[in-house]
Amino acid sequence: MPNFRLGQRSESNLVGVNPELVKVVRRAIEITPVDFTVIEGVRTKARQQELWDQGRTKPGKIVTWTMRSKHIEGKAVDLLPVTGWDNLESFKSVSKAMFQAANELGVKIVWGADWNGNSVQEKGENDSPHFELSA
Ligand SMILES: [Zn+2]
Repeated sequence: MPNFRLGQRSESNLVGVNPELVKVVRRAIEITPVDFTVIEGVRTKARQQELWDQGRTKPGKIVTWTMRSKHIEGKAVDLLPVTGWDNLESFKSVSKAMFQAANELGVKIVWGADWNGNSVQEKGENDSPHFELSA
């Protein structure tokens, strides 16, 4: 059984994140088979605006679909498996750990690669690093 620990970058990105969600991430890192890094937690409105502009009024690829991201309220985290961006299986493993942790702790979460929780990756369900507290 692997036993990973949150690194420095993960810890600083968890600052200001909703305590319930932080608990889930801390439990998930204990049980995940694939190590991960918290690459984003709380986002300022200005940062969200910057991301929104990318691919619209500024060059680049579109990376966000909303200006009302739960990141602004500290109710979302983005987790990147150590295996990188292209390994969907690793994202799935991290997701499994997140949902197991959330279940144990009685916290309801949603995954950006499966917004409706039906285990099928449909159109628009491609935000694999993204987990947020369910409304
Ligand atoms: Zn996100």
